[in-house]
Amino acid sequence: MIDSTTRLYGLIGNPVAGSRSPWIHNTLFDACGLPGAYLAFHVAPDALKDAVAGLRALNPGGLNVTIPYKTEIMAYLDSIDPMAEALGAVNTIVNQDGHWRGYNTDGPGLLAVLKRKLPDLENRQVLILGAGGAARGICGALLLGGVQRLGIWNRTESRIAPLLCDLEALAHTGKSLEAVTSPEAFKGYDLVINTTSVGMEPDTDETPLDVSMLRAGAVVCDIVYKPHWTRLLQEAASAGHPVVHGIEMLIEQALLAEKHWNLVSEEALDAVRSRLVEEFESDHK
Ligand code: NAP
Repeated sequence: MIDSTTRLYGLIGNPVAGSRSPWIHNTLFDACGLPGAYLAFHVAPDALKDAVAGLRALNPGGLNVTIPYKTEIMAYLDSIDPMAEALGAVNTIVNQDGHWRGYNTDGPGLLAVLKRKLPDLENRQVLILGAGGAARGICGALLLGGVQRLGIWNRTESRIAPLLCDLEALAHTGKSLEAVTSPEAFKGYDLVINTTSVGMEPDTDETPLDVSMLRAGAVVCDIVYKPHWTRLLQEAASAGHPVVHGIEMLIEQALLAEKHWNLVSEEALDAVRSRLVEEFESDHK
């Protein structure tokens, strides 16, 4: 129940209508008995500075930041975690007695999901489809998480080189980072992560790749979560590939944000994670 002890949490972005973050965080507050309420704030272009000033005055427990403000928000924070600094994007703000510190839980969220499913993740040869904002955070987290070989394919090839250049600063020696320019090379990888928006609603009949180009048994992960079963995941599962759904990343980045904001036990997080995945799957059959 919302009462005078309830702490405000929220999401800053544009657009935010349709965001699943209020569902995830309010479910967690409810399940864990935490005195929080999470709202989505649509912040108009050029209004970020005013939104930050207003929210600072209201003293929220914590905030998330989404498109298009993940980089711009960094100028308004008091400090930034080194990983978020290295990735060049903040999606989570912790308010510690008025000191606002930025973190990035997007890439680390997917990393946590993949590490649970693939204990040998570090030895996987990972192919990333896409070179946009999500790809940047995911590649950075995978490299910092120990992945040794990463290939990047993108429709617009000219966007690959600048991304590789930024990632090289994160990759320690001995790691292999490469531009993938032909689908013929897809067979060289055993974990493929789609970070493009191809297949997302309303264009659900599209897919970023022909799964017959993949090595048998390669794991296919799609970070698109609307729909739950993208065409890519349907075709991959039909061809016998293990699949990882986009909703798992979305939930995990939110749970990592909660760990920054509140003291929640791993057992409670496990229970909420299972409940959220179940609810999402039953709503999107
Ligand atoms: P973005 O920065 O705009 O990047 C979009 C990427 O998709 C670019 O690589 C772009 O390639 C590619 N692309 C777009 N249309 C294409 C097409 N028709 N054919 C081939 N490639 C195409 O977007 P983003 O922030 O990275 O987000 C990408 C997707 O990830 C969105 O669907 C978003 O909802 C999803 N996402 C999910 C989560 C999660 O938690 N599950 C988190 C973040 C994002 P070009 O460079 O050639 O344009």
